[in-house]
Amino acid sequence: MESANHLNQQEYGAIERAPLPRNMIENSMFEEEPDVVDLAKESPSYHIDSDDVTYEPRSSRLLVRGLGENDMDEDEEDYESSARLLGMSFMNRSSSQRSAASSYTCQQPSRSCSTLSTKTTAVGVLILVLVVSMFMVIYFVPSCTFTKKGCQKSNSSMGSIYPISTSGELFPWTDLRLPLSVHPVHYNISLHPDLNSMTFQGNVSIVVKVLHETKNIILHSSDMNIIKVTFEDKEYRFLEYKPWQQIAIKFPEDLKKGQYVLKISYKANLSNSYDGFYNSSYVDTAGTKRVLAATQFEPLAARKAFPCFDEPAFKSTFVVKMTRDAKYISLSNMPKIKTTDLNENGLQEDEFESSVKMSTYLVAFIVAEFSSHSKNVSKTTVSVYAVPDKKDQVHYALETACKLLVFYNRFFEIDYPLSKLDLVAIPDFLAGAMENWGLITFRETTLLVGNQSSPFDKQLVTSVIAHELAHQWFGNLVTMRWWNDLWLNEGFATYMQYMSIENVFSNLDIDIEFLNVRFKALAKDALNSSHPVSAFVSTPEQVEEMFDSVSYEKGASILLMLNATLRDGEFRKGVIEYLQNYNLSNTESKDLWNSLSQVSKQSLNVSEMMNTWTVHKGFPLVTVKRSGTQVTLSQEHFLLNAENGTDDSSLWHIPLTYVNDSCSVLRSCKQVFHLKDKADSLQLPGQVKWLKFNFRSDGFYIVHYDEQGWSDLISALKVDVNVLPSEDKAALINNIFALSRLGKVSFRQVLNLMEYIRNETETAPLTEALSQLGQIYRLLDKRSDLNLASRMTTYIKDHFGSLMESQSYEVETSVSKMTLRSALLETACALKGPNCTTQARHLFDQWLASNKTLQIPSDLMRTVFKVAAQTDEGWSELLDSYKHSIYDTEKRKMLEALASTQDVRKIIWILQKSLDGSEIQNQEFPLVIHTVCRDFAGYLYAWDFMKENWEKITQKFPVGSFAIQSIITSTTSQFSTKTHLTEVQNFFSSLGAKGSQMRIVQEAIETIKQNMRWMEKNLKTLQIWL
Ligand SMILES: [Zn+2]
Repeated sequence: MESANHLNQQEYGAIERAPLPRNMIENSMFEEEPDVVDLAKESPSYHIDSDDVTYEPRSSRLLVRGLGENDMDEDEEDYESSARLLGMSFMNRSSSQRSAASSYTCQQPSRSCSTLSTKTTAVGVLILVLVVSMFMVIYFVPSCTFTKKGCQKSNSSMGSIYPISTSGELFPWTDLRLPLSVHPVHYNISLHPDLNSMTFQGNVSIVVKVLHETKNIILHSSDMNIIKVTFEDKEYRFLEYKPWQQIAIKFPEDLKKGQYVLKISYKANLSNSYDGFYNSSYVDTAGTKRVLAATQFEPLAARKAFPCFDEPAFKSTFVVKMTRDAKYISLSNMPKIKTTDLNENGLQEDEFESSVKMSTYLVAFIVAEFSSHSKNVSKTTVSVYAVPDKKDQVHYALETACKLLVFYNRFFEIDYPLSKLDLVAIPDFLAGAMENWGLITFRETTLLVGNQSSPFDKQLVTSVIAHELAHQWFGNLVTMRWWNDLWLNEGFATYMQYMSIENVFSNLDIDIEFLNVRFKALAKDALNSSHPVSAFVSTPEQVEEMFDSVSYEKGASILLMLNATLRDGEFRKGVIEYLQNYNLSNTESKDLWNSLSQVSKQSLNVSEMMNTWTVHKGFPLVTVKRSGTQVTLSQEHFLLNAENGTDDSSLWHIPLTYVNDSCSVLRSCKQVFHLKDKADSLQLPGQVKWLKFNFRSDGFYIVHYDEQGWSDLISALKVDVNVLPSEDKAALINNIFALSRLGKVSFRQVLNLMEYIRNETETAPLTEALSQLGQIYRLLDKRSDLNLASRMTTYIKDHFGSLMESQSYEVETSVSKMTLRSALLETACALKGPNCTTQARHLFDQWLASNKTLQIPSDLMRTVFKVAAQTDEGWSELLDSYKHSIYDTEKRKMLEALASTQDVRKIIWILQKSLDGSEIQNQEFPLVIHTVCRDFAGYLYAWDFMKENWEKITQKFPVGSFAIQSIITSTTSQFSTKTHLTEVQNFFSSLGAKGSQMRIVQEAIETIKQNMRWMEKNLKTLQIWL
């Protein structure tokens, strides 16, 4: 899956700021009623119906703030807490124990069961029955109903306790993970969605293999009304345990080993959220509402569309049959083999070929009115589908997918195994894209490209296609055994996406983007709330939370480091070996490392090295001290909030790389030293003027030099700006800011390095510098430190002003130049640079005068629209265009501009509309809230809005999901005062387990503390040095 974080990829350190309604909100927004806008006072001049905007005064909102407890159905709460409770108590069971526990009657390790004689077995069974009965008496009669109060304490010490199913009977399974006694082999799934009533009927027939004798079959099912269950054509009752989304079929006798057929018929609603078999709609250019049904199963939602063994290791084959109205088409993973007229109200049934062996989360189907274009490449027909209005925007994606398919077929030396590959743009889709085998689904923004799109826009589409195509091998062909190793899917696909684009589309300058991704991963992983790349997960929320920066971006970063450490071609060979060895099966991290170790000709133990990067969280800080030719090196955990306990025992095997003044730019200059211990030393062959470690920032660590080491590097850069490759310069900037956060270098030293930037012209270091300064500026701004914020503005103008002034407003073709220009001008306009705002207004006026046909260079579009959106007229024009445009990349920039307004009424309106999905697509809510939060005018409202609408937000976006992570980060990451910290802590603890246990909440709290500390430490320095 491609989480939608990609969608902000072209956003650098732009500093957004506009007239500040300082009178309204001070730092402490939670004091007595600040003047929340009184909507009745004046009617807005833009066309927002006053009915649309309902916002209660803050005082009353404070009164109704009892979120969570009040709103939650008591039963639901019981379910939740008991699910969590069990999840916790069973979390340490290994898979072998799971296997042993797979039979209901044998809860002891299998050894003790199998060695019993008949007699002792009989006695044993009697005792067991007695013991179980006692348990039941003690725990379930009369008052223990498996709630927090009833069973919590005894649970861990007393063996298995069965939860109570919906019918009141004991549910015969006690784990979130399914037993291993029964495996699915093949599914026949027949579905009939009704797009008028938004319901569907389903019949699933599953061929199952019983591997160990058992009296139960346990599988997943969620949110459906099961009508009938038959096993070998005989009807059976079933039990359901909703909190775990499991059903059980109990048999009076042990099922013998062998193959059987389980059939289940059911009815369900098409989902209103973004997962399962869900309904989506859009309004076409003629103004008619169109509906469609599509799926999003990863990670845990296949069970919402059909009862199934919904864990990635239960691979199986699938045949899908879809009944639909004649006006729709249907698509699934495999090619269609036939269509049958059903002669009932014009219904038809499509049947698809039997699939390759795959995990349930990769199954997909769509019923919609779509148009497509196709092309044959290798042995595969590649097609791109979109709604008919947008059928002309599919060509770029089609060409790109074909080129990348050829690349991957060659690179992996295993051909893509299906005869077709569909890429489908879904009008309402939450993730960035989803790699369903043979039927990849995308947001429209990540797949469709209009004629006027520039390489800047194409970079995003290309990246997402490259990522999803890489998954057809990494994820689909070879799949992680369980979600703890999600990074094997996501880290790899992310790495391959950058690597393939560098090879196939060198014009897209993807290296700059990849560098930013590594910096982003370092920033996240520096927090105590981070987690190991391969981390234990059990509950659905924990699974959702794995879709984060660590799995994707850190995963990709450590693979880059490994590839840069291995000799030429070894990485690829190891990967091919891995894909061949585990073709169509499941793996763990060690399987990948073993494959890579086998091909490495160096004496490098890949497993030993890479384990240190996947089993503990965080990354090392390497400190370098040089005295003549003697270099001492040491490593420690780079942890921003060390107060929570430093983990000093963490040791990484770091393939340290370095260059010096005599040779520093070419790849051949690179030298390597393996630092495996806490400290070590290195003898240089001769004198050097300076050393720069982590060549091209290929390694996932931060480097600190002694005072002299930093000064030498800074002097060298001041003399010759080209003395280092651009990645190294960007990394120096990134690292020194990070080190100042850690308190290792003074802010004076940071500013000292920044002095060289006046001579810098390359994109990576400049955008990194802007991004770092922008973060500090935004904190100052949000604290209403007007004096320092304005000095920071002067500082930025002073250092970047001449570059800002020299930017053209004409069409540009180099992505690198566009990236730089957009970052510079977005900052310039946000800081009210007169030239920038005048030029932007001029371009906007021309655009209006041309009836919106003039091409604004796409990298400048957001800047231009943001300037325009600050007037009522501009905002209304943009809203109108947003509603009618069929070009989604353009629409998104318009939406960001709309959300950047400083008018609080408009801010509230846009937050509401994007949450209810009426005029702004619901999928854009995380982007809207992110954009609103960047500016002073909106960030406190956004926080308040999130709190008050928490229930509604979590109904739409699953707790723990990327969308929720993004919403929480956006609303909290700029707080830097005690009041705000307390407010955030109180809110999330008021949500109970569902709130405070989220990792992202820990991260948010840590970030605020970090901001507070930074401010405490550096405010004085800023006052002196800015
Ligand atoms: Zn992915």
